[in-house]
Amino acid sequence: MIIDGRKFSQEYTDKILKPRCEVIKEKYNKVPKLSTILVGEDPASESYRRIREKFFANLCVESDVLKLPEEATEEELLDIINKQNNDDSIDGILVQLPLPKHMDEDKVIESISPDKDIEGLSPSNVYAWIKSTPNLIPATALGVLALLKHYQIPLHGKHAVVVGRSMIIGKPVAHLLLREHATVTVCHSRSKPLKKYTKKADILIAAVGRAHLIKKNMVKKDVAIVDVGVNFEDGKLMGDTEFDDLKDKVAYISPVPGGSGPATVTMLASNLLLAFELKHAKNNIELQKCLREYYADYEAKGDKNPCI
Ligand code: NAP
Repeated sequence: MIIDGRKFSQEYTDKILKPRCEVIKEKYNKVPKLSTILVGEDPASESYRRIREKFFANLCVESDVLKLPEEATEEELLDIINKQNNDDSIDGILVQLPLPKHMDEDKVIESISPDKDIEGLSPSNVYAWIKSTPNLIPATALGVLALLKHYQIPLHGKHAVVVGRSMIIGKPVAHLLLREHATVTVCHSRSKPLKKYTKKADILIAAVGRAHLIKKNMVKKDVAIVDVGVNFEDGKLMGDTEFDDLKDKVAYISPVPGGSGPATVTMLASNLLLAFELKHAKNNIELQKCLREYYADYEAKGDKNPCI
């Protein structure tokens, strides 16, 4: 079965995000505002920005983009982030990675206020996802979990193998799967031979950025695969798996494009709306809990009477 990220995105948008937008507009009389900061001229970053803008245009989101030249200093960037942290009209700050080499990415990410860190990478947000407390969690990882849940793929007691250990995907995905009571193996560039691990996977997450890495002979036939990789080969976009070979063998597989990408942008929007609502729900623990659970309704059943 093909894990269709576009279909998931449409359903989550219709059943969760759009109804919530109606509540937000009525309750607060304003909409969440995202500030994206781009440094330099990275074509991939520009393309991700366009995809996000198109998606956000159909939601209750105001989106601003600040472009800094490649030669901007780290101090200038930190100063802008500091101003945006203190600007009450901004609800989410997204610094597009990678940053130019002369900037310290960790220092920049850590400077974003945790309440506005919709990428879920600031230290207190990382602590929350490691502790399995639902909060702002990296959107690609949330998207992976959302796809698995949406297709009702069993996780409890299953063996999940995550290939890739980055802070934005591999590690948060592993923690989300642990939260769902999967047994998790995390592989990386020194896990050799990779096949030894992938063969044992009931669920396989490929998050590397290497075309053709996962081949048909490396997996069991009843595995569910989510391919997060983004690679270009002869101008063609593809993931980390040999999708055409695998699709007739495995139980589930997500394509690239049309799998993890749409789920990521959807969960980023979800994080922004959640950040906005959590800000307004300050001091109301019950409401905050309700909101976190509402936005985590990955099976997108919807709720006619969401947390007001
Ligand atoms: P990253 O920071 O470069 O991490 C890649 C990971 O893959 C590292 O942990 C690395 O191991 C591991 N790795 C490299 N070669 C390997 C090999 N031969 N066998 C096993 N593991 C290997 O990349 P990232 O930021 O996590 O992104 C991963 C991919 O997802 C990229 O293609 C990126 O473009 C894509 N992406 C997709 C989305 C989406 O929405 N679908 C969003 C963001 C990124 P070491 O730690 O040992 O180096």
